[in-house]
Amino acid sequence: MNILVTAGPTREAIDPVRFISNRSSGKMGYAVAEAARDRGHEVHLVSGPVALPPPDGVSIRRVVSAEDMLRAIEAELPWCDALVMAAAVADWRPRAPAAAKLKKTRMPLTLDLEPAPDILATIAACKGGRIFVGFAAETGAPEEEALRKLKAKRLDLIVANDVSRPDAGFDVDTNVVTMISAAEAAISLPMQSKRAVGEWIVTWIEERARICRR
Ligand code: C5P
Repeated sequence: MNILVTAGPTREAIDPVRFISNRSSGKMGYAVAEAARDRGHEVHLVSGPVALPPPDGVSIRRVVSAEDMLRAIEAELPWCDALVMAAAVADWRPRAPAAAKLKKTRMPLTLDLEPAPDILATIAACKGGRIFVGFAAETGAPEEEALRKLKAKRLDLIVANDVSRPDAGFDVDTNVVTMISAAEAAISLPMQSKRAVGEWIVTWIEERARICRR
């Protein structure tokens, strides 16, 4: 299959030297990309700014903002059979980034934020027969909110994780996730490496593709 994976945070400019971002390390998305590559799939990775080395055998496109990521995904969408949106795309961005560095003498400073483009919501209409997998990072019991997002974003699978745990979520090599789809019972996985979670996700996609071909 042709599998498109997104990973990492986005950065939304405040001025030429400052930005708003989040704690995503990109590890989960890179692990999905490597797991898919090792199962023989063609993998394209759209990555926000991260400190990880590019995976061998995966074509990588680097982006900075949510707007850049949306453009890159729109360009890659016709190519792919499945999209795994592991990126932690910004929810808000400064409405009018300053063209010159803001002086710190401007005190107090209030940032005027607007919603960043919701990538999954924007591309939902072009989904066609593609398999879409999203992530839901929550603090607290994630399942109910994940189910709402599954429907709202037309996802086939949502991978929910509680980012308030020390062994799950941001910047660690392990994760604790629940895989939630519309038709099947939720699958709660014990704590394991992000690479192993990536393999579960790739297996789920392969199985879904097999069912759809029948
Ligand atoms: O609503 P929430 O941001 O928690 O949904 C998470 C899912 O939506 C993730 O798969 C994330 O990559 C995607 N997302 C998006 N565009 C945004 C924010 C999140 O596609 N602006």
